[in-house]
Amino acid sequence: MYDQALKQNKDSMIQSLQELIKIKSVREPAKGDMPFGEGIQKSLEYILALGEKMGFKTKNIDNYAGYIEFGEGKEMIGVLCHLDVVPEGDNWTFNPYGGEISEGKLYGRGTLDNKGPAIASLYAMKTLKDSGFIPKKRIRLILGTNEESGSACIKHYLSKEEKPSVAFSPDADFPVIHGEMGIIVFDLERTFEDADPDGGIEILSLKGGNAPNMVPDYAEAKLLETKPIKEIVEAYNATRNAHIDYTKEGEYTILKSHGISAHGSTPEKGVNAISQLVGLLDLIDIQIGDQSNFIRFLANHIGMDTDGKNMGVGLDDAYNALVLNLGMIDLDQNSGKVTINIRYPITLKELKIKLGIDNTVRGTYIEMKNWKCAPPLFFPPSHPLVETLMNVYREKTGDIDSKPITIGGGTYARSMPNAVAFGALFPGAVDTMHQKDEYIVIDDLYKMTDIFTLAIKKLSE
Ligand SMILES: [Zn+2]
Repeated sequence: MYDQALKQNKDSMIQSLQELIKIKSVREPAKGDMPFGEGIQKSLEYILALGEKMGFKTKNIDNYAGYIEFGEGKEMIGVLCHLDVVPEGDNWTFNPYGGEISEGKLYGRGTLDNKGPAIASLYAMKTLKDSGFIPKKRIRLILGTNEESGSACIKHYLSKEEKPSVAFSPDADFPVIHGEMGIIVFDLERTFEDADPDGGIEILSLKGGNAPNMVPDYAEAKLLETKPIKEIVEAYNATRNAHIDYTKEGEYTILKSHGISAHGSTPEKGVNAISQLVGLLDLIDIQIGDQSNFIRFLANHIGMDTDGKNMGVGLDDAYNALVLNLGMIDLDQNSGKVTINIRYPITLKELKIKLGIDNTVRGTYIEMKNWKCAPPLFFPPSHPLVETLMNVYREKTGDIDSKPITIGGGTYARSMPNAVAFGALFPGAVDTMHQKDEYIVIDDLYKMTDIFTLAIKKLSE
């Protein structure tokens, strides 16, 4: 019923996306009443003006967020997108803010994440309006401007504006993501008071990792080698398939551990450079004391495992199993601290994880600190929102066997109540988000617009 309108809008949709890509909306320091700087401000003004020109009601919420609304009704259906982008980085073949088209792809920072899907959502609303569709519920495209650095935009929106009765956010993958695991970040810390001058090897420092949610690909230890360990390092590398370089710096020994980076939601895909190094230190004759106890604790209770079992949290449910990532370490002769990132199954409670870890550290003098938790997002597969979106997806793609998915990562949907992530990356498509030469396949842009049009129609009938 809306195919004709969809076709007619194709060219102007591409043009709008190109114009939006040309606005460099990277976060800058606040300026006057622009909390995230001028570029982001311009991108918000651009899309709100576009929505207004299409005949929709628009509102700017204190330059933190904005919305474009279609139709009347008591209930409101939300579509959540963001306009800010991450910095372009280096080595682009195309102008990152040029909106160039080459071989069926539109290039530029934000084409996928998230300006393309935002424009597709807006044109889905326009398509319905042009075809004469009258929704029974209001459809509100909510545009955040700070997803890439904390989602303060949506916090502000929620403090001032209505929350949707249901919503989808096309800032991840197709099909529907009906579950996002809980995310916990915390530190394990211990101060070192006792050390036994027993002639053991002294660990002067041990450092590694940049972020809790990344598998560290590098860690380094500085030692005073009171007995030779070079052969142990070589044997460890050979038998454990590890990669630790043994080097000397004057009287000190430096051990450089090389791992493989991966995202903290999939630590099993990486090789943890910290754990690799801790595993080696556990094998050598280090000076006995509080520090060695801390290192042996890490070796015994984390080691190279990512399932949390030895930490007392080897938990799972019908959807997922818990994963644990040792993200950072900072240790010297006075104290040691590690930062751990856990993703826990969507149907479990935070307290269960806390109790498990509490049990494991009890009596070790190791303290749990800076505990932060983002609870899971979970909609049963039978929830009407999930069912409606899945049916639309199956109908439009012909992929009738596809099922809603759960992930360990956190999406923008988490910032808004009653929301799930839906799109916009198709299964098997190349994910260029946050990378050089980010692009959107133009056919995919049309396809997602078609999907969003039907999804909005079904949700608002
Ligand atoms: Zn995004």
